[in-house]
Amino acid sequence: MEIKKVLKHLKLITHHKWVVFKLCCKAGEPWRGFLHDFSKYSPTEFKESIKYYVGTHSPIMEARKDKGYSEAWLHHKGRNKHHVEYWVDDRAPNPTPIMPYKYAVEMVCDKIAAGIIYQGKNWTKEYELEYWTKEKEKLEMNEKMKNFVTEVLEQVAKDGIDKTLNKKNIQCIYKRHCG
Ligand SMILES: [Zn+2]
Repeated sequence: MEIKKVLKHLKLITHHKWVVFKLCCKAGEPWRGFLHDFSKYSPTEFKESIKYYVGTHSPIMEARKDKGYSEAWLHHKGRNKHHVEYWVDDRAPNPTPIMPYKYAVEMVCDKIAAGIIYQGKNWTKEYELEYWTKEKEKLEMNEKMKNFVTEVLEQVAKDGIDKTLNKKNIQCIYKRHCG
């Protein structure tokens, strides 16, 4: 039972990394795609994810439901700059600074990849925008960053991934909102 979960989780995170890598390559940030989420292989994140493995959504959600918090998530968001939570400091004069370009690109690729993997054959190009519209209401995030993500996902919903994720287009959207 346990070994099955280990293998399934390994397959899931490696598949996720692969999809993020491909998307980051399209968007012109291959190095971010390569380095994406390596901390998921660390004992703190890996062990908890095995314990709460479900396959249909993130084990982090299951850990939160069961324990009230997720150690894997606290470990993950503190080390991975593509997560908006990394950039939040409520004690600072500017609690939600703008994320640097390369991490902002990695963030949108991560979102799209997570949707593709968990939705499987039910995934549509409109899915991520629908998910994001609900998610952004609860997020503590710089408004300019929110607008950046919204425009990228609106374009994906309208024109698809290939037309949206290219270096020139993403740079242009980032400049418009965050530059
Ligand atoms: Zn991550």
